[in-house]
Amino acid sequence: MSASAPLIDPFQRAISYLRVSVTDRCDFRCVYCMSENMTFLPKADLLTLEELDRMCSAFVRLGVEKLRITGGEPLVRKGIMTFFNAMSRHLESGALKELTVTTNGSQLQRYAADLAAAGVKRINVSLDTLEVEKFARITRWGRLGQVLDGIEAARKAGLGVKINTVALKGVNEDELFPIVDWCAREGHDLTFIEVMPMGDMGEDNRLDQYWSLRDLRGRLSERFTLTDLAERTGGPARYVRLEETGQKIGFITPLTHNFCESCNRVRLTCTGELYMCLGQEDMADLRAPLRAGPDDAALENAIRAAIARKPKGHDFDYSRQSVTGQMSRHMSHTGG
Ligand code: SAM
Ligand code: SF4
Repeated sequence: MSASAPLIDPFQRAISYLRVSVTDRCDFRCVYCMSENMTFLPKADLLTLEELDRMCSAFVRLGVEKLRITGGEPLVRKGIMTFFNAMSRHLESGALKELTVTTNGSQLQRYAADLAAAGVKRINVSLDTLEVEKFARITRWGRLGQVLDGIEAARKAGLGVKINTVALKGVNEDELFPIVDWCAREGHDLTFIEVMPMGDMGEDNRLDQYWSLRDLRGRLSERFTLTDLAERTGGPARYVRLEETGQKIGFITPLTHNFCESCNRVRLTCTGELYMCLGQEDMADLRAPLRAGPDDAALENAIRAAIARKPKGHDFDYSRQSVTGQMSRHMSHTGG
């Protein structure tokens, strides 16, 4: 097979989107994502910035057109701008169509302008509440003011901002309209995410936090006229337009299976494990073939072999009153 043949999985899905977790560390401890006392990976296990470059460049050669950098908190990785600047060469060559990042926003004041200079056009910022104390409770270590200042810095740098809000029962239900209104005023797109059963959260009961987006959508429609949009991203997001404001609102319901058939993405962890599906345990170690030598042939073969194992879909299921298909790894490991 030629090195330039695109990555096609056994279900005829072209793999064009790679999400890369560049660190498992974070300056926040969101209650649905991490426990307070997390044990992080030894730094030596992490791919170096040069290795991340080689890895991502191999995927781009094999047809990946969109790279999303995530974590953990990607912007706390030391030297991360070196990596963004390196990836911008693939934007310039036209091989890569989009370079983007998902961040908690805490470091944006420092990095927004550098991200824009590296060719990033739009970013996702995770924000579940606009209330100072609630923000501190959800993130444990975060400060709302710092994140809002970061979002402002992103806007000044010319970056488009999409807000990602995890729908949390009894936590931010009462802020549905304030968050929607704030995004309308500020000109940010907004996507709601259903909470997923990732990692062991200790005493927190995942079903207690679960607020179905069907219910959230129903509440939105009490105040707005919702029009379904045909837009598809190959992922679990579905979009509506609020006719009264013209806003676009996304819903990410990873627990439904209705998006798997068009899945175009795979996820690379900061240690070089490739997860072909967010909701399955199977993964391929790409670090060993990468470190086997300077030639990328072994790496490219390992990537192709992994894509040939991409499963049809995932096994999450909340339909019975217990969480089945729960994943033992944390979201910060695979990258959200
Ligand atoms: N630290 C960055 C951030 O918060 O945006 C990037 C990594 S974070 C793991 C990526 C996204 O995953 C965030 O929007 C976060 O809210 C979401 N997330 C984390 N744990 C989740 C869970 N158990 N269910 C649903 N979304 C989750
Ligand atoms: Fe950190 Fe993002 Fe997880 Fe929150 S959701 S703990 S900001 S990685």
